[in-house]
Amino acid sequence: MLTKQQILDWLQSVAVVLEQNKNYLTELDAAIGDADHGINMNRGFQKVITQLPGVADKDIGTILKTVSMTLISSVGGASGPLYGTLFLRASTAAAGKQELNNQDTIAFLEAAVDGVVQRGKANLGDKTMLDALSPAKNAFKQAVADGASTQEALQKAVAAAEEGVKNTIPLVAKKGRASYLGDRSIGHQDPGATSSYLILKTLLETITP
Ligand code: ADP
Ligand code: MG
Ligand code: MG
Repeated sequence: MLTKQQILDWLQSVAVVLEQNKNYLTELDAAIGDADHGINMNRGFQKVITQLPGVADKDIGTILKTVSMTLISSVGGASGPLYGTLFLRASTAAAGKQELNNQDTIAFLEAAVDGVVQRGKANLGDKTMLDALSPAKNAFKQAVADGASTQEALQKAVAAAEEGVKNTIPLVAKKGRASYLGDRSIGHQDPGATSSYLILKTLLETITP
């Protein structure tokens, strides 16, 4: 179970974590992109937290939709529309809900991943955020099927995302700016996969007592 308060706390903490990791994410993007991923994500989530008080008494779907709209209007680049779509689809899965049980969270994660795929047309192994998100979603789903609690399932999801991030290092980028480098993208960790991992890890930390 994820409560609305946990979702709100998560989003607040994501802003803190992305600020702390702003330079790290930007350095990753400097190697294979245009050195702005940390700047983009930090700008977006700083804006998000200014919008949260206005929707804190609404349902989780409305809160996530606000996150989506804020990211679309403030992040820019490739990641703005992609994270915007992720949160928009997640908001639809959470429409009207004050809490998310494990099945709701699976629906949330599936909608989020499907949104990124439809928007960005990336395949697994293209060295994108999908390489963290998709294994995380699968691990969460499998853990719930095996009877895990939300926290246990999220631990598995975060471990899978971390593995997915590491797995981007030897890959050739097939999407986004990094793809312009071709084989020269080999040996570098994908910034978007890294931000996706950090966002998921922050959810785990938020719900861990
Ligand atoms: P930009 O490349 O426009 O400067 P960012 O630096 O903010 O945007 O984000 C780059 C990240 O976006 C990449 O590391 C990658 O994970 C992700 N990305 C780029 N294109 C796609 C895509 N088509 N599908 C999924 N993720 C993508
Ligand atoms: Mg960039
Ligand atoms: Mg850019």
